[in-house]
Amino acid sequence: MSDPLKDYWDKRDFNQTPEPVGETQASTKKPVFVIQKHDARNLHYDLRLEHGGVLKSWAVPKGPSMDPMVKRLAVPTEDHPMGYLDFEGVIPKGNYGAGTVIVWDIGLYRNLKGDDADLGRNLDEGHATIWLEGAKLRGGFALIRTKRGGKRPQWLFFKMKDEQALPGSEILTERPNSVKTGRSLKEVEEQEEPADIEGFQ
Ligand code: MN
Repeated sequence: MSDPLKDYWDKRDFNQTPEPVGETQASTKKPVFVIQKHDARNLHYDLRLEHGGVLKSWAVPKGPSMDPMVKRLAVPTEDHPMGYLDFEGVIPKGNYGAGTVIVWDIGLYRNLKGDDADLGRNLDEGHATIWLEGAKLRGGFALIRTKRGGKRPQWLFFKMKDEQALPGSEILTERPNSVKTGRSLKEVEEQEEPADIEGFQ
């Protein structure tokens, strides 16, 4: 069986991108999640859940919501290495995913189907429910595969109804910056040294 990170490695030139090469790791005891805000060709948010020693990943074009009425499309992307968890920086022009990345939210999660439930199996079945303990996102969230989308499966990612739900809230505009450094996308972009200048520094 090929390494779950093969797609991740194949898409990138690590002489060109500051993203980590990474490796498949042992599962962590307390699983972690991250949501990265990624200003690529189109601004989107990348949801990543640690499972099986890698980060299972979805691109969420419109980003997460704390309002249970708001269900957001989530498109599966390649597994990412654990080292990607706190990646924040600029992927230079011409590279896969070129653009700026910030750590929009990070924390622990629990599988709401039970501590012994296998998230990988839940995902295979197209129905996962998780409890997020982030700095911004808290409470139960569902990740449900829909029939739509042709060959490429599509999922919905949305807040479940519980005491943590915030109907009507606009968390993306209320809390736009990095939870790692407090920086905005623009600040990260401007603080980064241009990678295409040879012999810089
Ligand atoms: Mn992305």
